[in-house]
Amino acid sequence: MIFPDEIIRSRRKTLAIVIDAQARLIVRAPKSCGQERIFAFLAQKEPWIRRKQAERKSVAVSLPTDNLDGYEFPLLGKKVRIRVGDVKSIVFDGEQILLPKEKSRERLIKWLKTQAKTCFTAVVDEYANRMNVTYKSLTVASARTRWGTCSRENALRFSFRLVYTPMEIVEYVVAHELAHIRHKNHSPLFWNEVERYVPDYKTRRKWLKMHGGYMQIF
Ligand SMILES: [Zn+2]
Repeated sequence: MIFPDEIIRSRRKTLAIVIDAQARLIVRAPKSCGQERIFAFLAQKEPWIRRKQAERKSVAVSLPTDNLDGYEFPLLGKKVRIRVGDVKSIVFDGEQILLPKEKSRERLIKWLKTQAKTCFTAVVDEYANRMNVTYKSLTVASARTRWGTCSRENALRFSFRLVYTPMEIVEYVVAHELAHIRHKNHSPLFWNEVERYVPDYKTRRKWLKMHGGYMQIF
């Protein structure tokens, strides 16, 4: 028997299941749908549910608590550890981030945004050159729902949270957004363009989908 973590009832007609970034099983059900029908549905989908939950758990990140000292998180795919101590400004040696006691979290986020801007600017310039496109501007934003966007006017925006992912993933998101300069859609022509510069884009895209939990770190 498999139990859902949450049942959300609405005016929908069919049953649907979602495994969220924390591997919780959420069922979306019509208002009048009985428990029996829900459990029968879950029993039928059990192998898929178990597989998805295991997948999500294997990539889940533990989220920071109020005490940041000792917390580990990925920075460009490499694990770094936070230490909070008697320092005036942030010190980073490639493995540890030493944070001041005052306003630690705020200062860390500001620092992450600066790191993100430096990193993304370099990757965007490299790929824009290779792809022979020009963009209007580059902004590092705090979006939690999208890794990157390219506006109609070719203004690029990237979530600073992309800085948690490995460099290959940053490159994929950059190439993806730059490909939107020529193709304002996700047509086969668009994907051809992405593939020219990132031949294994499908693997990287899948990685990104599985690591949606990274959006919640800070
Ligand atoms: Zn796109």
